[in-house]
Amino acid sequence: MKILVTGGAGFIGSAVVRQAIRDGHAVVNLDALTYAACLDNVASVADHDYYAFEKADICDASALKWIFKVHQPDAVMHLAAESHVDRSIDGPGDFIRTNVEGTYTLLEAAREYWLNMGKPMNFRFHHISTDEVYGTLGETGMFTEDTPYAPNSPYSASKASSDHLVRAWGETYGLPFVLTNCSNNYGPYHFPEKLIPVVILKALAGEPIPVYGAGENIRDWLYVEDHADALLTVLQHGVNGRTYNIGGENEAKNIDLVRMICAILDEKRPKDTGYAEQITFVTDRPGHDLRYAIDPTRIRTELGWRPSVTLEEGLRKTVDWYLENEDWWRALQQRQGVGVRLGTKG
Ligand code: NAD
Repeated sequence: MKILVTGGAGFIGSAVVRQAIRDGHAVVNLDALTYAACLDNVASVADHDYYAFEKADICDASALKWIFKVHQPDAVMHLAAESHVDRSIDGPGDFIRTNVEGTYTLLEAAREYWLNMGKPMNFRFHHISTDEVYGTLGETGMFTEDTPYAPNSPYSASKASSDHLVRAWGETYGLPFVLTNCSNNYGPYHFPEKLIPVVILKALAGEPIPVYGAGENIRDWLYVEDHADALLTVLQHGVNGRTYNIGGENEAKNIDLVRMICAILDEKRPKDTGYAEQITFVTDRPGHDLRYAIDPTRIRTELGWRPSVTLEEGLRKTVDWYLENEDWWRALQQRQGVGVRLGTKG
């Protein structure tokens, strides 16, 4: 299959690109290379015969038209987005532009291409989204694919809008699509201003490890390579027009997660005082959702997919990766405007 991956120089998109190439697919990686992108994330596949890169903005209709025409993909996996909740609070405009207008522009380019191809029903537009579109949970319950949308941040509202556009293009124009809504990702190549890398890198630097509020917010954590595997499974075997929720089956309070990382570092890079002593509580962010949790029944029963690692196993792999890839994160930390933001995900 030839897959047009948007946002393939970002955190999750690059994991999808690496895995798709490993699985024998051809990939066209379309990315505008914003502050969040890093082409080193795909360096391991960049010389592959089945890999191509196109620097383009998903809001640029004529560039998209040209890319569809030249590359003739069998499917689109749409991951390009402004993805950081804290940045969406500081400046929501970019989120509306890329996530809403960009998704609309991409849908129109895909629709025109699909029409010109004679409307093949095996073409697929796979839209990758977040569980944050469902809003927040109390102490019990889980998000299912039927949970009503109730986004609380500019980021989640822009992603909810893009989900609705994709569904509408399917219902109105018949464009074949699948949609996935996923929980918090973590793992190799996670941008250094997201929660888990911040904890690892602050700990190693001997600096305060910031935690929002009392650290009581609960998230479900999914190892990024498991997410990439789930996405390629849905792309190939999901039912047309259907949503699949993807979760890690790994709920944890932020404070417990941070303590787990500190304990792993205590073991791998021992020092006189434990890393947990560096934990510092900071003012919570506005509209901070209390809890997200995914009911993964559909993807498990229909497609036989489950995550392959526990949170403990995934965190160990992640800590090892950051210890072994200092050049990668130091280069990104030195980029202008990259600071400490504690958003757990995009
Ligand atoms: P990311 O910020 O790491 O990467 C986004 C990529 O999109 C970057 O490479 C960036 O250059 C590119 N991009 C941004 N604007 C663009 C534009 N206008 N045109 C073309 N490219 C553009 O994001 P991520 O964490 O990898 O998330 C990928 C997708 O998965 C997003 O749609 C996000 O909403 C969704 N998602 C993320 C998480 C998570 O935990 N990170 C969880 C669920 C869903």
